[in-house]
Amino acid sequence: MTSENPCVRCGYCCKYMMVIIVSDPDKGISEDNIEFKDGDGEPCKYLQGEVGSHVCAIHDRSWYPDTPCANYHCKNGIGNYILAREGVTCG
Ligand code: SF4
Ligand code: SF4
Repeated sequence: MTSENPCVRCGYCCKYMMVIIVSDPDKGISEDNIEFKDGDGEPCKYLQGEVGSHVCAIHDRSWYPDTPCANYHCKNGIGNYILAREGVTCG
């Protein structure tokens, strides 16, 4: 059984997770307004900030709860591992 951990804003998932994202945030979610974000380590175009304080630029949009990102729950404490690796103090 895995436990979920609070997001410590390390940004790992927004760089390494393959996910469908919206193309133009002003158009919301529709079939002709989505794109595939590769998990190649490049940050998502909506990722802002630094390790330990990353934020998603579209997080406050009304339709965000319906995105795959909103349904992702950090598991296994990877965020704390990334912060420790980068020498960033949590909190
Ligand atoms: S990997 Fe986990 S801790 Fe890091 S940004 Fe994603 S959800 Fe947050
Ligand atoms: S849309 Fe936001 S939460 Fe989803 S991958 Fe991009 S930056 Fe991360």
